[in-house]
Amino acid sequence: MPIPFIEPFRIKVVEPIKQTTREERQRILADAHNNLFGVAAEDVFIDFLTDSGTNAMSDRQWSAMMVGDESYAGTRSFARFEAAVQEVLGFPYVLPTHQGRGAEGVLFKTMVSAGQYVPNNRHFDTTQANLLALGAHPVDLAVPEASDPQRDLPFKGNMDLEKLEAFIQKTGPGNIPVGMLTVTNNSAAGQPVSMANLRATAEIYHRHGIPFFIDACRFAENAWFIKNREPGYADRSVGEIAREMFSYADGCTMSAKKDAIVNIGGFIACRDENLKLKLAERLIIQEGFLTYGGLAGRDLEAIAVGLREGISEDYLAYRERHTAYLGDVLRAAGMSVYLPTGGHAVYVDAAQTLPHIPPAQFPGVALANMLYIEGGVRTVEIGSLMFSHPDPDTGQVLTAPNELVRFAIPRRVYTRSHLDYVGEVASVVVRQSEKIRGLEITWAPELLRHFIAKLDWVSSAN
Ligand SMILES: *Cc1c(COP(=O)(O)O)cnc(C)c1O
Repeated sequence: MPIPFIEPFRIKVVEPIKQTTREERQRILADAHNNLFGVAAEDVFIDFLTDSGTNAMSDRQWSAMMVGDESYAGTRSFARFEAAVQEVLGFPYVLPTHQGRGAEGVLFKTMVSAGQYVPNNRHFDTTQANLLALGAHPVDLAVPEASDPQRDLPFKGNMDLEKLEAFIQKTGPGNIPVGMLTVTNNSAAGQPVSMANLRATAEIYHRHGIPFFIDACRFAENAWFIKNREPGYADRSVGEIAREMFSYADGCTMSAKKDAIVNIGGFIACRDENLKLKLAERLIIQEGFLTYGGLAGRDLEAIAVGLREGISEDYLAYRERHTAYLGDVLRAAGMSVYLPTGGHAVYVDAAQTLPHIPPAQFPGVALANMLYIEGGVRTVEIGSLMFSHPDPDTGQVLTAPNELVRFAIPRRVYTRSHLDYVGEVASVVVRQSEKIRGLEITWAPELLRHFIAKLDWVSSAN
């Protein structure tokens, strides 16, 4: 008998969740200007808005928090946090930050000037916004198959190495103060990057004298995919694979709210002491002193434990199958699911599922809003509302490569029956898909507009 996938934990504390009626949810969403970010979490039954900071911590993490050292400087908790980062990632220098975007802000403000370019396989929204806010240019150079939801390939998160080389030659390495690579590639459906591609990306950056930083949020899930999909890694532990990944980089930014399985925190790690000192100056202004960086001592304790739990192979095997199961359930409901399913989330191709809604009317937002109305399920659009933006030079509006809806799965929070329920809700939405209308923006800010934009349903279907 094949072994069914099963949660490698049992439940010690529960948090009740509330059912609402369809009528209540329709009113709640209208009151939130049809933007799910404006809906109170209490009014959400199953929350797949993000896997960021929504994780269930273990009993060991909670007990570590009790021994947090809340001194200002030189805390015991920092020492334990630093040791965990050094052990799991292998970088000697670590600066804590309040979360991932704090790490990006400190790194970019230290290294990047207006008019410069930063390549990445694909920038996450906060790295993109941090660079745009500095007047710099985020450049996405993912392999073309990253934008093809139907090709089932093992490493669709990869950097396009030829494009990267050509881009550096054209732009000149002097205009590229730092090169990035995001693992897994969140903005490309959570797809992993292979070790071969990571190594080659590092080689290209370094040959041109460009420092190489990894956006490391989901490094453990990426390492798990390398172990299972890349020849030569099956017998290596995830811990060894992770250290090899980082061994090619000069540093990383990390949101601990992902693979360190905590609710808040992040860090920058690097190899060069001089760079660390430069980053430290900015860190103190923006985040806090070097041994807390905007976090409480207890948060550092939880990260130290969570980093080690995050590379546990029992946990990662469950994590991958749990996510794949949601993909199966949504596909069975008739949704067009991005292949293969990523580490932390299932992505539905809204352009395929709602082909009558054009990108300018946000098919992803329409689908996400209907999942909420029908079943209290909250997801997020990763498409034109999130990513289309004016080019800083030409002012021309650049559209998103795909219109996706992301079902991001909090770590260790939902059981398989929650996933089955989501499948039932998806069926109800798919059955009425032809009647679903698009939306238009009535108000939006310039940067990161998806968080607070106000929208209205368009009056008739196209
Ligand atoms: C979440 C995330 C970030 C930003 O981290 P925050 O903790 O949300 O600020 C950066 N890059 C990627 C790939 C992410 O997934």
